Amino acid sequence: AERVAAAEWNGVGATADGHQVKVVANVGSAADARAAVAAGAEGVGLFRTEFCYLGANDEPTVTTQRRAYQEVLAPFVGKSVVVRTLDAGADKPLAFLDMGVEPNPALGVRGVRVAFDRPDVLDRQLEAIAGAAADSGAEVSVMAPMVATADEAAWFAERVRAAGLPRAGVMVEVPAAALTAAEILDAVDFASIGTNDLAQYVFAADRMAGALAELNDPWQPALLRLIAEVGRAGRQLGKPVGVCGEAAADPLLAGVLVGLGVTSLSMVAAAVPAVGAALAAHPIEAFRRAAEQALAAATPAAARAAADAALNR
Ligand code: PEP
Ligand code: MG
Repeated sequence: AERVAAAEWNGVGATADGHQVKVVANVGSAADARAAVAAGAEGVGLFRTEFCYLGANDEPTVTTQRRAYQEVLAPFVGKSVVVRTLDAGADKPLAFLDMGVEPNPALGVRGVRVAFDRPDVLDRQLEAIAGAAADSGAEVSVMAPMVATADEAAWFAERVRAAGLPRAGVMVEVPAAALTAAEILDAVDFASIGTNDLAQYVFAADRMAGALAELNDPWQPALLRLIAEVGRAGRQLGKPVGVCGEAAADPLLAGVLVGLGVTSLSMVAAAVPAVGAALAAHPIEAFRRAAEQALAAATPAAARAAADAALNR
């Protein structure tokens, strides 16, 4: 099949034969939200709420939070927005959720683990999200970062539902969560794979360390095999599985992810048109074949070459 130029994308996420894939954006502010709409994103697959508070010394009130979320949700009336609860700790410390000095912050109390210590902070955030969702008319889902087990997923889903929010999901960014994706998906409505952290944790390679960038390459077969596991679980349970890490922004890899069973791709707004066009260029079967070839590769370069050969030669 011919490659489709980004300019030719019609704005509806689907493969050439009409298999739907949501092409959505990662945002952290109202400005990002406007950029996402301008780029043609069909919604938001990851709203990083901690970005609203990187400079805050005190926990924002429910009213202040509600206003901040409302600003981000406003452009997405009738559209899907996945709001991630605070992912504090490690590379994104929040002054009002200081968990003390840890020898290994990336392996410490971060993401949803903070909420186990401070469920009151989570509940106030969920109250603000529920209020903003009602104000905005966006179709809001909520997901937790850094979930490791099905028990954690169930704990989170119960609190989300208690807040009156209709859809609860989790990020899959800890290898244990990918390996138990079926049990986790059983407890929630959807999952979204965070390839940035999933790569960091499966390779024991700090995502911020430039010297380890090769291990954090999203084409690494070990990472692709973990993603395949989650895609398989999603198909088995009939629940959506997204990718919201940087991997989703690579047009060739995006097709491979869809071939692995991923049903939505969330990325920086600038990448939306190129990824949308790449998906529209081939039928789902072609992406499944490309995924199979990439999975069988021994190196990132071989995986990329195999996918390129399957789709473009
Ligand atoms: C990820 O880990 O891939 C992700 C999307 O979350 P963040 O980059 O905010 O950690
Ligand atoms: Mg992450």
